Amino acid sequence: MATLTRRQLLEALGVAPLLAAAQLSSPRTYADVALQPFSLTDVRLLAGPFLQAQKRDEDYLLKLEPDRMLHNFRVNAGLEPKAKVYGGWESVKTWEDIRAHGHTLGHYLTAAALMYASTGHEEMKRRVDYIVSELKQCQDATKTGLVNAFPDNSAQIDNLVAGRRATGVPWYTLHKIFAGLRDAYLWCDSAPARDVLVKLAGWAVETTKDLTDAQFERMLDVEHGGMNEVMADVYVITNDPRHLVLAERFCHKAVLTPLAKGRDTLDGLHSNTQIPKIVGFERLYQITGKPQYRAAAEFFWRMVAGTRSFATGGNGDNEHFFPIADFATHLDSAKTMETCCSHNMLRLTRLLFARNPTAAYGDYYERTLFNAILGSQDADTGMMTYFQATRPGYIKLFCTPFDSFWCCTGTGMENHAKYGDSIYFRGTAGGSQRDSLYVNLFIASTLTWRDTGVELRQTTSFPEAGRARFEIIRAASRRFDLHIRHPSWAATIGVRINDSAVETSRRPGSFITLTRTWTSGDVIDIELPMTLRMEPLPGTIDTAAIVFGPIVLVGALGHAVKAGEDLHINERTIGTPLNEPIEVPTLAGDLAGIPAKIRPTGEPLTFKTAGVGRPADVTLVPFYRTAHQHYNMYWKVQDAR
Ligand SMILES: [Zn+2]
Repeated sequence: MATLTRRQLLEALGVAPLLAAAQLSSPRTYADVALQPFSLTDVRLLAGPFLQAQKRDEDYLLKLEPDRMLHNFRVNAGLEPKAKVYGGWESVKTWEDIRAHGHTLGHYLTAAALMYASTGHEEMKRRVDYIVSELKQCQDATKTGLVNAFPDNSAQIDNLVAGRRATGVPWYTLHKIFAGLRDAYLWCDSAPARDVLVKLAGWAVETTKDLTDAQFERMLDVEHGGMNEVMADVYVITNDPRHLVLAERFCHKAVLTPLAKGRDTLDGLHSNTQIPKIVGFERLYQITGKPQYRAAAEFFWRMVAGTRSFATGGNGDNEHFFPIADFATHLDSAKTMETCCSHNMLRLTRLLFARNPTAAYGDYYERTLFNAILGSQDADTGMMTYFQATRPGYIKLFCTPFDSFWCCTGTGMENHAKYGDSIYFRGTAGGSQRDSLYVNLFIASTLTWRDTGVELRQTTSFPEAGRARFEIIRAASRRFDLHIRHPSWAATIGVRINDSAVETSRRPGSFITLTRTWTSGDVIDIELPMTLRMEPLPGTIDTAAIVFGPIVLVGALGHAVKAGEDLHINERTIGTPLNEPIEVPTLAGDLAGIPAKIRPTGEPLTFKTAGVGRPADVTLVPFYRTAHQHYNMYWKVQDAR
């Protein structure tokens, strides 16, 4: 690969150009990638639940104090800390054995960089620049290249590299710091972030250089986050082959090899340990073209999205994959569906979609984003879930702002800062010579398509109403294809252009293609008829979730708690608090007949069963809006057949 221009680099990293479009011919350094996402800087959210969630996240990011997150980085570099360390996973004895100290700073760098790209708010960039300058000071002081916040400095990494028993997951934690520096460089154009990142990568190369392949593979038995992915990204940034070698060494063969052969050996494995590895496989396929990476990534996605997920797109119980015949025995758990797993499945799905834009990837993205991710944030406090319990009648518990600092707090900071990153995609050069624009999600937003001069506005109150309008604010001088996803949950989609009906799509799970020379003022209206359906719990015939379009509805069972009473520090005790016995209705009837006995109440996305609830009918509301009350997601159906 020749040295890339900055624009080519950003395209190569799948984050799209930040720079004004120069007419550069982008070399095809990537294996058959069909689409490029737009830069977050080119998409702006309009009023709606996603913009509200973004704002709440921004407020939380502003409340956190960089100097407190930097405390132990400075201590380990022999510098005086400037503020007291935060609690939870960052410093408290209960979690010392995880060695997650400092992971929050990495997530924070990523989240603040994404938020800056999504909003343009300078305070976010100022914070990123400050943290990077502090990390640079720490790195200059240590002289090794390593920056970390572990209580025993590099001792556990040293143990892992030496093949000794180690405590916790130090590479997992370091991965967050690598990723944060990468994102600070990409989104905030921080040259110091690039320097610190490259020196940190240099340390990683140096510290692992004497390991044999077998020793390296043994080290990878311990959770290591997305070290393969981030080292691949560092390689794209530096063009230094040592970084690509290390990225491939960080590929865990015990997971890669069976997946590449189409063998699902995931039962019993820790879910969020695996998903980031697979994101790295897909990145490495796109960089190297090696087919085993592609095969493993595609097969893993099919297994997890297709056979191992609940209705919201979440997976796992107590953080682990379980046999697909065992969903019923895990339903009662309060520790199903770790939010990080949904976060990382979306990162994988987005990469796969860009390479191969099929509606199946888009459908999963929508389902998981609108249910698991939007539903992970408490609208009143801005705090985030760890597990999303399927336990009948349980409740959502959220982190506290300053004393939890779970993994899901970290990925949670990132989730709500990047809603603009998967709404629109554009066709890459090559293949069809015509420009193409893909609409993957129905989220109110504007898009500036710099290459063509097109500006587009999407107005929609979806999912509260099943329609969306696209207005061409500024047109291109040439024809382009507009592809709009026809979701699998909609039997038909009606398309009107400038108030004339032009098409009715009857192919759910496909893309509608509209081609013309669009002019300013053109308006495209689409109707997305949303209907109710029952989605059986995998492996069962008598237990099902109620879904409206892509929106999972849950029973509102009351027993409200005040906002704040459900903020929780210790994720290990989720399932214990607020677990008083709650009567959960069952439904009488057969699965196919129940949707006809669920009636809208007149409130948006709110329904009530009509005569099928036992002992009483139940009000149904979106999982994503549910907080501070007990809920039920899966229903026992008495006469299922
Ligand atoms: Zn997590």
